Amino acid sequence: MAPTAFAATAFAAARSRAHGPTTALWHAVELHRPAGEVDGACELTLCGTLARVAVDEAWPSSSREVCRACATLAGVDR
Ligand SMILES: [Zn+2]
Repeated sequence: MAPTAFAATAFAAARSRAHGPTTALWHAVELHRPAGEVDGACELTLCGTLARVAVDEAWPSSSREVCRACATLAGVDR
């Protein structure tokens, strides 16, 4: 596994709110603080949205409702 710029970066999953026809999505938030301090907080996601951090949800989420932009920016796009 080659080292990348993201190697030392931890991400948390954050749930955005549904806007009209858009369903709520799981976004990635860069963790600059201990996960316990950001749990439940609204943080800026990689794609620039505000979403509520849920540290008990793994990122990348196993859910299909994952923000494509965040997945790409976090380097987990498959
Ligand atoms: Zn996103």
